[in-house]
Amino acid sequence: MIIVIKPNTSPEGIEEVIAEVSKLGYEPRPIFGTEQTVVAAIGDERTHRNLDSLTVLTQVQEVLRVQKRYTLVSRESHPADTIINVDGLKVGGPHFAVMAGPCSVESEEQLLTTARAVKAAGATILRGGAYKPRTSPYEFQGLGKEGLRLLEAAKKETGLKIVTEVLSERDVEHVAASADILQIGARNAQNFQLIIEAARSGKPILLKRGFSQKIEEWLLSAEYILAYGNPNVMLCERGIRTFETFTRNTLDLAAVAVAKMESHLPVIVDPSQGCGKASLVSALCRGAAAMNADGLIIEVHPNPAEAMSDGQQQVDFAAFDKLMASLPPFLTLTGKTL
Ligand code: PEP
Ligand code: MN
Repeated sequence: MIIVIKPNTSPEGIEEVIAEVSKLGYEPRPIFGTEQTVVAAIGDERTHRNLDSLTVLTQVQEVLRVQKRYTLVSRESHPADTIINVDGLKVGGPHFAVMAGPCSVESEEQLLTTARAVKAAGATILRGGAYKPRTSPYEFQGLGKEGLRLLEAAKKETGLKIVTEVLSERDVEHVAASADILQIGARNAQNFQLIIEAARSGKPILLKRGFSQKIEEWLLSAEYILAYGNPNVMLCERGIRTFETFTRNTLDLAAVAVAKMESHLPVIVDPSQGCGKASLVSALCRGAAAMNADGLIIEVHPNPAEAMSDGQQQVDFAAFDKLMASLPPFLTLTGKTL
């Protein structure tokens, strides 16, 4: 870290800062300039104490961080793309994954017809919420354990892998028993106790970005999972809150590019929560594929008008077929295959 000292500080004032830096476990190296002095603090910022507290000294102007706060998720620590094994299916590197299915699991017929349709169109992973994080307590909260049972039945019939959200620490064990990928939702993107418990299950994790989460914070949420011994993380950009209200969220494709540059983890794009409008989903899928995302998670419903959650953003089977057929040229651009 670099501690910038205010101009006209006395030599004693500078000495005081140097002494504090050593006391906190860093090796201080003062650099005396013509106008100002800075003290370089040599030591690993990630394992030593943070020096931000030095700004309480009146002679300190600012404390600058040099190292990134994340290590295990960074490309520097692992230059090659991580490829995750989801019950035998590879995700990441050249392997593009399409996860598709309803927002919520509603019934056996709804889930099975959707599973068959998305599989026929080329999806390899079935999505569907059994536990739903709804804004209002009066809205459909999901089928819970019955929903998990239906997801297992759909996997048995179609061979599709299963991704489903886990909402609370107490559900991790039984959701992990049914799912191939645990989804941590945007509302829980910084629920660190849940994230740690999910990491400990050993299952691959799809980590959504919180709707007000900075990219660095999103990567630090992923860092928790790796720090707790689970390297199988997929980052998922699902839109953030902005001033724009035409779309439900603003899908931040720049964040996808940043995440691909900063991290070796696969990056999945969720255009459905990302824009909130079925008519925009297809274009966003092609955009994500063209910019080297590692996969998509798309909401598909047999009859979106009757969906019990997120009907406005779910595409029907015909629209899903059409969007899947439009993807290959965009995947060719990045050397990925379905
Ligand atoms: C969902 O996938 O249906 C969902 C609730 O996602 P998010 O956590 O991104 O809002
Ligand atoms: Mn949804």
